[in-house]
Amino acid sequence: MIEDVQDMLCDRCRRPSLVTDIKYVAKGDGTRMALCSKCRSKSTVMDKITPHKVVKSEKDPYTCGRCGYKFRFDPYGVTALKCPYCGKDDKLHQG
Ligand SMILES: [Zn+2]
Ligand SMILES: [Zn+2]
Repeated sequence: MIEDVQDMLCDRCRRPSLVTDIKYVAKGDGTRMALCSKCRSKSTVMDKITPHKVVKSEKDPYTCGRCGYKFRFDPYGVTALKCPYCGKDDKLHQG
């Protein structure tokens, strides 16, 4: 008796695996690859998607001495430091 179980090639290790052991895994670029269970457990560690590190912009608290307006300013941002309320920058102090 020949067993009626087809073997499939794993796309990563190229070993014939039982069709029941193969799963199609999305590769992120729109294509899929057939991976055996061993490679699937490996790939979750190896191909772990590392999200882009978001640089947290620390905003410093400022107080405008002219109008008393309190605001937060991002020193790494593109805008120049000035009071968003009165538009002046000569009486600003941190805190
Ligand atoms: Zn494999
Ligand atoms: Zn002001």
